[in-house]
Amino acid sequence: MQIKRLRLSGFKSFVDAADLRIEPGLTGIVGPNGCGKSNLLEALRWTMGETSARSLRGAGMQDVIFAGTATRPAREFAEVSMLIEDAAATEIEIVRRIERGAGSAYRIDGRDVRAKDVALLFADAATGAHSPALVSQGRISAVISAKPTERRAMLEEAAGIAGLHVRRKDAEQKLRATEANLLRLDEVIADQD
Ligand code: ATP
Repeated sequence: MQIKRLRLSGFKSFVDAADLRIEPGLTGIVGPNGCGKSNLLEALRWTMGETSARSLRGAGMQDVIFAGTATRPAREFAEVSMLIEDAAATEIEIVRRIERGAGSAYRIDGRDVRAKDVALLFADAATGAHSPALVSQGRISAVISAKPTERRAMLEEAAGIAGLHVRRKDAEQKLRATEANLLRLDEVIADQD
């Protein structure tokens, strides 16, 4: 999977719409302290479905919306669009949007989808919001001191089987719900006897 373009609007310090083309090869982001380099990586993770506001250096998820400065009013929403090319060279656009007072909404190629659908798409591509491929500040020491189970999760993700775990959890939940329904059905039938 290759990330080809990132479009941000109202996300953290990116108050004006910003359009970044990511060309093949190595991409470096340089700039003075506080110019928004980490915000860009966070925008990637946020679009991939990050659910922890703390790991995006905020108290709540609404903190990703441009909060205003002395000269510019706060924005009412944040939106990030990411264009990727999958292994079959098909382009896919993933959009996450959050409005003040409302939760996040996701779209894949213009269709409204659930957060889970976005998580699965990236898990199948062996990446995602928690991928060890996204190395933010402090992550290197975290990887070095990871417990064996955490290392195993990294290897499973690299092997592209993380999506299978999500599907298995889903299937187990459905199975439990069906078992509960069957039990209830047995009780209803017994009541009628
Ligand atoms: P460093 O080189 O010091 O690590 P950096 O280039 O990675 O810095 P970031 O940490 O990405 O910079 O950006 C920090 C800037 O983003 C700060 O100026 C902060 O005020 C601004 N910022 C973060 N969240 C918001 C928000 N919700 N609204 C407005 N500005 C924000």
